[in-house]
Amino acid sequence: MLVTGGAGYIGSHTAKALHRAGYAVVVYDNLLAGHREAVRYGPLVEGDLADRGRLGETLRRFEIGAVVHFAALLAVSESVHDPARYYRNNVIGTLTLLEAMAAAQVPHLVFSSTCAVYGEPEETPIVETHPTRPINAYGETKLAIERALPHYERAYGLHAVVLRYFNAAGADPDGDLGEDHDPEIHLIPRAIQAATGGAPLEIFGDDYPTPDGTCLRDYVHVSDLADAHVLALQALAETGRSATVNLGSGHPSSVREVIATVERVTGRPVPAQLAARRPGDPAVLFAASRLAADGLHWRPRHSTLDEIVRTAWAWHAAHPHGFHGGTV
Ligand code: UDP
Repeated sequence: MLVTGGAGYIGSHTAKALHRAGYAVVVYDNLLAGHREAVRYGPLVEGDLADRGRLGETLRRFEIGAVVHFAALLAVSESVHDPARYYRNNVIGTLTLLEAMAAAQVPHLVFSSTCAVYGEPEETPIVETHPTRPINAYGETKLAIERALPHYERAYGLHAVVLRYFNAAGADPDGDLGEDHDPEIHLIPRAIQAATGGAPLEIFGDDYPTPDGTCLRDYVHVSDLADAHVLALQALAETGRSATVNLGSGHPSSVREVIATVERVTGRPVPAQLAARRPGDPAVLFAASRLAADGLHWRPRHSTLDEIVRTAWAWHAAHPHGFHGGTV
């Protein structure tokens, strides 16, 4: 099993879940954003998606039968300012991987996609058949691959399960892994940083048409996402059927609810100040995950906001400087 981006946040949690499920895991990562310390469940091949030769050699050397593909750039606002980098990494990089898979006759792929493919939702909860009209380059690059996959399936027999994540959050309940982005852009780790003496949290707009005026998002625990990849691979092995599936808890939470939960869990105030809306933020995003439940038999087990924040807080408290800072 090859896990590209397996040194990253969702990738490392998935490598652990795969290892536990009995798969032999090989991680392929260029370590630009990933952490060597997060690769614990199989060998690391340091390589870039652009390196077609190294990809092909890795697929053959380890006799890879399926690829779980995370390696990608993921910051929405960065994708707006530097789309070329996003297209090069997320589109050209992934197409290079698909070519290497086709050449090595690797038949199964699980692809990390995102609710950003939907753009501004017309209806919530969002079902998989909702129109896909991304409002940023990040979502466009993921959708470009989604749209290529049926063609690659027809021509090269490459079957894929596309997983559209909502807001991945939390940390490994055993405390082995956690979120460590540089810079950190996500709400929950930023709120924890603010609670522990970092810069005050900026609330990006409180005049949205939501009950408390702040954006509603669907936070889903990273270990629940990881489990879904195991189920997707099992479904591919059993049926060989391609599918596109939302992964969310189905429960919308506002920015203010997240702040209140961080305050309760940490026992500390979260200094916060109102800031302008962030361009490209829809007011409300949450998932209907019926397909994942029915098709993959996926049940989120850790995705209450309380458990998400408790595990994120436990990780942060034990690793205030992330993977590289060691433990305290
Ligand atoms: N957000 C915020 N302050 C921050 C970071 C995020 O108010 O410092 C808000 C953001 O506008 C969005 C929600 O929190 O409504 C989740 O943002 P995040 O960046 O965590 O995930 P995204 O929804 O962009 O995938």
